[in-house]
Amino acid sequence: MAGVHEGPEYGIGDFVLLHELSLDAFMKNLKHRFEKGRIYTYIGEVVVSVNPYREVDIYNSSYVQQYKDREIYERPPHIFALADNAHKTMKRQARDTCIVISGESGSGKTEASKIIMRYIAAVTNVSGQKEVERVKDVLIKSNNILEAFGNAKTNRNDNSSRFGKYMDINFDFKGDPVGGHISNYLLEKSRVVYQQNGERNFHSFYQLLSGAQDSMLNDLKLTRDVKKYNFVNQGGDAKVASINDKQDFRAVMDAMKATGFSPEETATTWKIVASVLHLGNIEFVGEDQAEISNQHETSTIASLLGVTMENVEKALCSRVIAAGGNVVDKHLNVGEAHYARKAFAKAMYDRLFTWIVGRINDAIDPRHGGRVGKNTVIGVLDIYGFEIFDNNSFEQFCINYCNEKLQQLFIELVLKQEQEEYMREGIQWQHVDYFNNKIICDLVEFPHKGMFAILDEACLNVGKVTDEIFLDALAQKLGKHDRFTCRKLDPADKTLEHHRDFRIKHYAGDVTYSIVGFIDKNRDTLFMDIKRLLYNSSNSVIKSMWPEGAQSVTETTKRPITAGTSFKNSMIALVENLASKIPFYVRCVKPNEMKSPVLFDDTRTRHQVAYLGLLENVRVRRAGFAFRMAYDRFLQRYKMICPKTWPNYRGQVTEGVKLIINSQGFADDVMFGKSKIFIRSPQTLFALEQARDAK
Ligand code: ATP
Ligand code: MG
Repeated sequence: MAGVHEGPEYGIGDFVLLHELSLDAFMKNLKHRFEKGRIYTYIGEVVVSVNPYREVDIYNSSYVQQYKDREIYERPPHIFALADNAHKTMKRQARDTCIVISGESGSGKTEASKIIMRYIAAVTNVSGQKEVERVKDVLIKSNNILEAFGNAKTNRNDNSSRFGKYMDINFDFKGDPVGGHISNYLLEKSRVVYQQNGERNFHSFYQLLSGAQDSMLNDLKLTRDVKKYNFVNQGGDAKVASINDKQDFRAVMDAMKATGFSPEETATTWKIVASVLHLGNIEFVGEDQAEISNQHETSTIASLLGVTMENVEKALCSRVIAAGGNVVDKHLNVGEAHYARKAFAKAMYDRLFTWIVGRINDAIDPRHGGRVGKNTVIGVLDIYGFEIFDNNSFEQFCINYCNEKLQQLFIELVLKQEQEEYMREGIQWQHVDYFNNKIICDLVEFPHKGMFAILDEACLNVGKVTDEIFLDALAQKLGKHDRFTCRKLDPADKTLEHHRDFRIKHYAGDVTYSIVGFIDKNRDTLFMDIKRLLYNSSNSVIKSMWPEGAQSVTETTKRPITAGTSFKNSMIALVENLASKIPFYVRCVKPNEMKSPVLFDDTRTRHQVAYLGLLENVRVRRAGFAFRMAYDRFLQRYKMICPKTWPNYRGQVTEGVKLIINSQGFADDVMFGKSKIFIRSPQTLFALEQARDAK
């Protein structure tokens, strides 16, 4: 149907209507549409989006008007239609909806989420209420702040989101945005201290160095020379053609102001960023008893963070431990001090990021401005896609688990939704076979028996716990699982960096994970000394970021929750939340690795189509009824093809629809639900459309 308005030269606008259902046919249509500049195609109500890697002029206000308050199939496929549908459904049904955007790094998720937000901003608040305008402004501008602190240039994407983001937008009964709330997931904090060749640290560092005024840099004791700072120079050349750090810095400052960051809060934010840069340049000497050799850095860090120089030194070179009721200082060796320094930098930046998200949330809190009436929300999820790198570690393990959870939700919801609609309409449901990845989710998350549980158990062990011990436990407990294998490689093989790993057969493909660092990253220990140091800062903003620093050394604290378990819990909560809403899906595809607007790499795209389960999605949709439409709309659209309904028809709507169907001989291929007609095969729809075109 969709696609018909575009003319046949653009291929088919809804994959459900493909003449022949095969991966080849799917790919052919996708490629054809991409080459014709049609980046959006439907699978029923799901939008498949291919990154155009160029500016496409399809988001201006004339497009907004074309999609506003229309039904999804009335206009050519567009992400605006989906945004409109999510908004309209929320209003009509007074229920929460959500938009789940998935796809691999660089496929266009974040751009899609911004396009959706801009569309919603454009079609709401026709009466121009001031508070609503303010909320919209903050919602849109907050992206600048989040991207500055949470995005980075990677080898896959110049503006890669290194955190997961879920955002609720709250609407009042008229459907105008009155607030929102952002949840952030697992920032890739290892990037703060280490970048691969060709990659950068988070944008904020470079923005500060190139965008801040001389006087500000002076106060922060920084120079503009990126190469001088160890934590930001590891990837090589920091210049990125597609990025203007200087301009972005100004946009961030502007956005912070609009969001309501006080001057003190903004200044503190940059002081923390600067401290991380200085921390990266601290050097240690003295082997067994580490000492800082460049004291001027210590002094700078102390003054930026509002703490004493002596305490910075202590936090980096020693650790306070409670032994048998006594408190003693244990001196760190140089290796341990390096570790402490990195942990310090990572934790400080990570905490800063979460604090920033909290400040944005304060500004868009829907209770702001006294609005406490009944709200409905649209949730927008823009979260890391499936990752398979050459070397996969704890982070990829978490990210891929997240994708398993979302895939599972997708399967359940798409099927559940179909099933519910058939029940509502009083139509018999047919069972469809599909691969259910629940088995993989269980492997990872099952209480007491899953991988996260085994990892926690290993971390709890007293005495020396190594990654190898963890792997042995995995092998012992999960060795027989279909989807899991452990490997011990020949230690004599010098070509291998790691000799122990495990592999999971994910729904999206096999991934091998190196076990190195699992224990450490899961424990995510930060010495109390550092928390206490920052809690005791004379800067009240910094102090407020570290409330747990109030605990004394001897106070018995319960074991902190591990990074893995905390991530698992947040994913379970996220999925529960999404499952309670009416979902809309955007599936993003990256056409090539070169960021080229013309190249359609068959192998790479085919792989994505396969693991996003797009073909299965089409199959599920077609297995039941390829197409459905409310009776009044149907009559409106096709009345001209039947002499009994054209040019004049005054009877009942359902009767009119039946007259049309019978006149075309399609009675066997359709079912009449309570409010909609269901058409089984795409061919019937083609025939109807052809009959219509012939008129
Ligand atoms: P990651 O997982 O790394 O965060 P992502 O899926 O969020 O990746 P985006 O940052 O949205 O990917 O897109 C990468 C780049 O592709 C953008 O910076 C932009 O250059 C281009 N791009 C994506 N979508 C569009 C679009 N609709 N129009 C024009 N360019 C686009
Ligand atoms: Mg992104």
